[in-house]
Amino acid sequence: MAAQEARRVQATLDSRKRLILEIYKVLGGADITSIEFEGPEIAVYVRNPRYLLEIEDKIKELAKKIRKRVVVRTDPKSRRSQNETKKYIIEHAPDEAGVDTENMLFDEVLGEVRVLADKPGLLLGKNRAFRNQVLAETGWRLEVYRKPPLRSSTLNSILSHLFMASAERKKALREIGERIFRDTLVGTKYIRLIGLGSFGEVGRSAILLDTGESKVLLDAGAAPTGFGPSAFPYFMAPEFRIEELDAVVISHAHLDHVGMLPLLYKYGFRGPVYATPPTRDIMLLVLKDYIELAKREGVEPVYELRDVQTMLTRTIVVNYNTVTDVAPDIKLTFTNAGHILGSSLVHLHIGQGLFNVLYTADFKYYRIKGDTSVRLLPPANDEFHRVEAMIMEATYGATETQPRHVAEEDLIRMINKVYENRGKILIPVMAVGRGQEILVVINRALKEGKIPEIPVYVDGMVYEVTAIYTAYPELLAKPIRDLILYHGENPFLGPTTVYVNDQQGRDEVKYSEGPAVILATSGMMTGGPVIDYFKHLAEDSRNVLAFVSYQAQGTLGRRLMEGEREIQMEENGHLKTIKVNMEVVRIEGFTGHSTRSELQMYLRYLKPKPRTILLNHGEPPALLSLASAIKTKWSRMGFESPPEVIVPENLESVRVYPRSYKLHAGVAYTP
Ligand SMILES: [Zn+2]
Ligand SMILES: [Zn+2]
Repeated sequence: MAAQEARRVQATLDSRKRLILEIYKVLGGADITSIEFEGPEIAVYVRNPRYLLEIEDKIKELAKKIRKRVVVRTDPKSRRSQNETKKYIIEHAPDEAGVDTENMLFDEVLGEVRVLADKPGLLLGKNRAFRNQVLAETGWRLEVYRKPPLRSSTLNSILSHLFMASAERKKALREIGERIFRDTLVGTKYIRLIGLGSFGEVGRSAILLDTGESKVLLDAGAAPTGFGPSAFPYFMAPEFRIEELDAVVISHAHLDHVGMLPLLYKYGFRGPVYATPPTRDIMLLVLKDYIELAKREGVEPVYELRDVQTMLTRTIVVNYNTVTDVAPDIKLTFTNAGHILGSSLVHLHIGQGLFNVLYTADFKYYRIKGDTSVRLLPPANDEFHRVEAMIMEATYGATETQPRHVAEEDLIRMINKVYENRGKILIPVMAVGRGQEILVVINRALKEGKIPEIPVYVDGMVYEVTAIYTAYPELLAKPIRDLILYHGENPFLGPTTVYVNDQQGRDEVKYSEGPAVILATSGMMTGGPVIDYFKHLAEDSRNVLAFVSYQAQGTLGRRLMEGEREIQMEENGHLKTIKVNMEVVRIEGFTGHSTRSELQMYLRYLKPKPRTILLNHGEPPALLSLASAIKTKWSRMGFESPPEVIVPENLESVRVYPRSYKLHAGVAYTP
């Protein structure tokens, strides 16, 4: 054991020494004070801030040469104090830029100051002149974000924790960096994919990638079955040992992909989590909410807020299309998945060109041509450098839904009907994804005069999440992005949108006169403000309950959708029978997943074609139906030879091979 540890230390030293020599060769002229391995980045600290401006081109050249992410920062000792810097920015920023003077966050680790402005372009200046000026004068790198028209207080408070815990974060990043930049010990010996959850089912997504050299976990989700151990992925599997785990990669912020992540930290994991910036933001809200929800249900949460914070300290954000080392033999790239804000297709490049795995997680694919419906996000990316094996979701592998634009027309028709009857339409929505999409559809219909002026109330966590959507306009689909960036419009805030966030506001909506649209969580009516509205609106036949998303077995939403019209509910400690006289409708077609035809279309347009396709994230009929479609239509999908299609069960391990398909065709397991 000691010998192995000694070899590891030696290997780490050798690898890093070589990189450091390379850095000195290129940046030697700058006044380097130290070189640190901070997470996946190599940070070079220099004494004179002005150097940073002079050597920008050289840094790019260096990064290309050593194929690592290199950042150059000012030495903390040569930075001006936070107060002085804040004063400098306020004094010198152009007034028209609309700098938010209250909310400047200083990241001591990164040497960055995060400033919000109404007009970020104006603040940065031509050729980023102002940014350079601030850097030269104060030593702080200015990061400018658009001041979101909506503001999430929860998010602000969690993010400020991140900035406050900067010493702890620095230490964590350095430990992570040392592990990533070690020399390979044994090298990539094999590639195995082990399903710990989401195989043969929807929920608790967790896949272990094992190369012999490193182990990376893809997603760490919760099952929708309550809050206890029944919701865990198979973390007890023999292959899965927390102390051997190099990293966790999170595809997107839905609970079935991220819900059990803090549990790993509770049990001692101290490695990094990789996620896009919006995924980090949304997952903080979602995880905090998960803890609170469990408590409200009278269940002891399986982890606490402090575990979420430990996780946050070790979360490394990676933008789309940025290649990042996550282990000595694994490089990660996120690209847009079109499912919810920040959702990613996860591409892993293993062993210096040996093999490439694409994990789609949840994704939405569609063809832009001829599509007139409101789309919040661009379709999933379909072009890669290399892909040999792919793990693909198949939620709707067996089902087609009506086209999106028909769904929109249905919704608009229902709202008009309610308006004429002077009733209210209650739409249960998920806080992340569907809530924002429905809101934008309604606001556009209002703008185009397809529905009359009618108040639109939005209640529950939708507001917090929408605030995050408005903070990342550049990630939204072009028409929506243009509205925000060039027309100063906020598609999430129509002329009649009212965000409701307390009981008093809720009561006002309930007892208000006249027609209204109400969007409220939760999407499956398992709790949240939607219940309160439902109790109040159910008995009046002028009202409508409209479902716009999937309703799982056993939920109140499903029972109502299937025709139950007398519901027992608790009110002030007593059971009360509620007679449902309101019209209950189901509007299909708003899904954030690819439908059956979209899944097949994705394989048709995907470049290049994988040799092996693993299907997961679907009920067995959906998985098998898609598998047989691929097996019969592969040629029409543009494959040159039939791909190997596998539908593994949880705990099965699939070994993928870096050679031609024929070599292992004999042992391929195909159910
Ligand atoms: Zn999802
Ligand atoms: Zn999912």
